[in-house]
Amino acid sequence: MPATALSPEILTKYEPVIGLEVHVQLLTATKAFCGCANHFGSEPNTNVCPVCLGLPGALPVLNAKAVEFATLAALAINCQVRERSIFARKNYFYPDLPKGYQISQFDKPIAEHGWIDVPTADGTIGSIKRIGVTRLHMEEDAGKSLHDGFGDSATRTYLDLNRCGTPLIEIVSEPDIRTPEEAFEYLTRLKEILLYTGVSDCNMEEGSLRCDANVSVRPRGQEKFGTKAEVKNVNSFRYIRAALEYEIERQIEVIEDGGRVIQETRLWNSTEGRTYSMRSKEQAHDYRYFPEPDLPPLIVTAEFLAAAKAKLPELPEARRARMMAEYELNDQDARTLTASREFADRFEAAARTAKSPRRVANVLLSELGGRLKAQGLELDQSPVSMAGVVLAADLLDEGKISSKQLKQLFDVCFVRGEDFAVAYEREKPQQITDSAAIEAMIDETIANNPKQVEQYRGGKKTVAAFFVGQVMKASKGQANPALLNELVTKKLEG
Ligand code: ADP
Ligand code: ZN
Ligand code: MG
Repeated sequence: MPATALSPEILTKYEPVIGLEVHVQLLTATKAFCGCANHFGSEPNTNVCPVCLGLPGALPVLNAKAVEFATLAALAINCQVRERSIFARKNYFYPDLPKGYQISQFDKPIAEHGWIDVPTADGTIGSIKRIGVTRLHMEEDAGKSLHDGFGDSATRTYLDLNRCGTPLIEIVSEPDIRTPEEAFEYLTRLKEILLYTGVSDCNMEEGSLRCDANVSVRPRGQEKFGTKAEVKNVNSFRYIRAALEYEIERQIEVIEDGGRVIQETRLWNSTEGRTYSMRSKEQAHDYRYFPEPDLPPLIVTAEFLAAAKAKLPELPEARRARMMAEYELNDQDARTLTASREFADRFEAAARTAKSPRRVANVLLSELGGRLKAQGLELDQSPVSMAGVVLAADLLDEGKISSKQLKQLFDVCFVRGEDFAVAYEREKPQQITDSAAIEAMIDETIANNPKQVEQYRGGKKTVAAFFVGQVMKASKGQANPALLNELVTKKLEG
């Protein structure tokens, strides 16, 4: 891969400037301006009607759900929602755009002036950078052209108009991003937020989330931005990062060689790890925007806005902060538990039924996570249910099983594909609850470790843990942990 990490040296001389444009498919049941199904993967050209085919005389009617979703997304990224926004025609010819124009929004988008916080590049925990969101507007998607074969071997192009008229939002960032890594973080956060709101599945393979990256470089210290290039057709966040790295290096090289960067659209080729010029500014579109005559202004009433606000879920960052406090988690563990809203919901619902919610988090992270990963399983394929995790946490909490037995039981669950309750009922791990038996083992351990006893009696109370560990081992993990703890202290003090 020619795309390499940028050399820090050259970056002391030049500063990259990046702005991102993200298109997101909304998960409405029907299209933006007609009643056709908004469904990925249907037989080609089955979800079409006179409106989305742009037949003469057909009139668009705005889908209220699309407005609700756009509003939710806008609120989630801290935008101000306009009370009155205007749809506009964006005119261009493309075979998969039968109307010859796309209904979009231009100078009066539904929302503006938002932001997304990303962690800063230096990685200091809790330190963030705020990336401005210029606007969020609504528009419709075009159809799809499918080519059989590539380049010279292409013989036919087919048109599938199912996607024509499906609802999109476009989210345009301010040119606030300074590194490819920040761009990656911005996109990761944006996607996570959108997934939490439920307005899109953000599936990049299916084109539900698409990103165009604008990038320029300028000498450090210079205020005026350099000329930007726009990189299109990048279908993963990692490729966007790589494309930006490549593009920054290319532009710096052009300038260092005494040339000038030209404004153009470039395509990313992931196989070669480089970008190619697609069209220059001279060939750029003039879309001749004008207000869409077939749609009235879109009015977002105070009631509508309030209803949307009420539907807004707790967003990822806020949820992580709360869960870190509530379950005494570190940042990384909180991230794991909140990776998806659905999972975080399931975890919290389960944790609330347990004696110690924090213990549920611990068991989940220490026993379940690693085993699932090792077997390449998703959480919903786990042999141990969330209820099983709660049971395990409660048993541990009550001292009915030791942490060693917990591990053994989880091993059994994963080997036999059983839930925790099943394994526990059958195995019912032996527990030694006979004080005399435990005391005998403690006596022996104390006799064998006079040095540690001396340390303990000299004031180093933490040595108690050593004795607990030794006796637990001697008991093959079967000593009742609560009883063992109590007796060790008693013996050492005595
Ligand atoms: P255009 O009119 O060419 O579409 P816009 O002003 O609408 O340009 O900006 C499109 C995107 O490009 C935005 O995300 C914006 O932040 C970003 N952008 C604008 N100017 C620059 C620049 N000089 N360098 C990098 N990104 C830029
Ligand atoms: Zn239709
Ligand atoms: Mg633009």
